[in-house]
Amino acid sequence: MTFLRKVLQRGRDLLPVSGFHFDRPIVLLQSDDWGRVGLRDQAGLEELRSAGLSLGDRPYDFYTLETADDLSELAAVLKGHRDSSGRNPSIEMNFISCNLDFARMSAEGFRQLHLLPLAEGLPQGWTRPGLLESYRSGVTQGVFHPALHGSTHFCRIAVDRQLPRADDRTELLQKLWKAGTPFIYWRMPWIGFEYWDPEQSKDVRFLPAESQQQLIGQTVGWFAKLFSLLPRSACAPGYRANDDTHYVWAQHGIGVAQNGPGALVPPHFGRGGVLHLHRTVEFEPATDSDFSVETCLRQVKTCFARGIPAIVSVHSINFHSTVKDFRSRTLQNLDQFFTALESSYPDLLYVHDQQLLELVNKGTYSDGDAITRVGVTKKKFRKTALALQVDA
Ligand SMILES: [Zn+2]
Repeated sequence: MTFLRKVLQRGRDLLPVSGFHFDRPIVLLQSDDWGRVGLRDQAGLEELRSAGLSLGDRPYDFYTLETADDLSELAAVLKGHRDSSGRNPSIEMNFISCNLDFARMSAEGFRQLHLLPLAEGLPQGWTRPGLLESYRSGVTQGVFHPALHGSTHFCRIAVDRQLPRADDRTELLQKLWKAGTPFIYWRMPWIGFEYWDPEQSKDVRFLPAESQQQLIGQTVGWFAKLFSLLPRSACAPGYRANDDTHYVWAQHGIGVAQNGPGALVPPHFGRGGVLHLHRTVEFEPATDSDFSVETCLRQVKTCFARGIPAIVSVHSINFHSTVKDFRSRTLQNLDQFFTALESSYPDLLYVHDQQLLELVNKGTYSDGDAITRVGVTKKKFRKTALALQVDA
């Protein structure tokens, strides 16, 4: 069955697909990992250091969690800019809807996982005054668009399988949990991603459809509790999604599937009728030592030359400030980036995922009473050809 599915998938990738092209320069921002706790600020850092962990080898050692202040500073930068239709840039924020319930797990000697929905607050030891209200306020103001990432970033099956084993992996995991940190991915890639279990054989790494169905159903429920909204766009943790994921998303009314960077793929409909968007600009000053605004602007120019939107990837770590100030540089660079875009492209449009979906379906998108028309054309392309085309 798996082999057959693989052959079918390869065959489909060889067939031409209709990609959407636009006659105006369009920019979207997509951002992952909101709501997911990491290092428990300075106290967590000190606790882990005294437990023998040397932190600081990579930026994700200093991944913490956004604060209400980080969010309001980001919102201020977004609100300080306008496109040719007078609209602000906004950011598609992909949320992890649960953290770990460390209090409950600790009472059981950290022998099993328990989840704590973000809608119910943060785990023991974490404080972020006004955080949930700040997310919601940005949504009301139209600068944040909440979307689905997952309920946990890691694969729960991989962790459940590991926990009964008394070895270095379990020891590191429990050391992190005691300090209020769920995981640090680069130190333990065996934990995988929500729908993807890396230690299975290659053909069965994606969780079966029924498991994904159950996970996504729960995640949508928690998301709705947090925002009183249903998600319309989704990005799988680690970008690990397959046809099963897309079908289940579609069943829940999710119309847009976000994909990672790597190829200049135009927006196109995939199986299940979901619009696939591929990120084409990597705006990641916190993690990319070669980052520059100029490089990002060159990537944007390449997209516009091909008539495809510039879809900017900017992970939440870039806005964190509590242990390491990633935020100041990011916001300064983001401000420069928007200024350069607005002066270089007089007919620029900032849109979000849902508006792009509306645009490919209707040739227009709306925002309150304002309606914007964009010329949309379809051109055939082959995914296999584009996968090799990683430029700019
Ligand atoms: Zn993520």
